[in-house]
Amino acid sequence: MEEKKEFKQYVCLECGWIYDEEKGSPREGINPGTKWEDLPDDFKCHDCEVLKSDTDMWQEL
Ligand SMILES: [Zn+2]
Repeated sequence: MEEKKEFKQYVCLECGWIYDEEKGSPREGINPGTKWEDLPDDFKCHDCEVLKSDTDMWQEL
């Protein structure tokens, strides 16, 4: 059986930076393949200070 992994992307509505689950965010120590829901609540946008917990500020692509 093959496990199908679907990666999503989430865009920061403040600055337009995109978190890609497939790529992760190595600069923040987030490994490639890390699901959005597995990110720590204090994860911040790469380019601005928007927190992951500010759910209104992130939109799934
Ligand atoms: Zn941002």
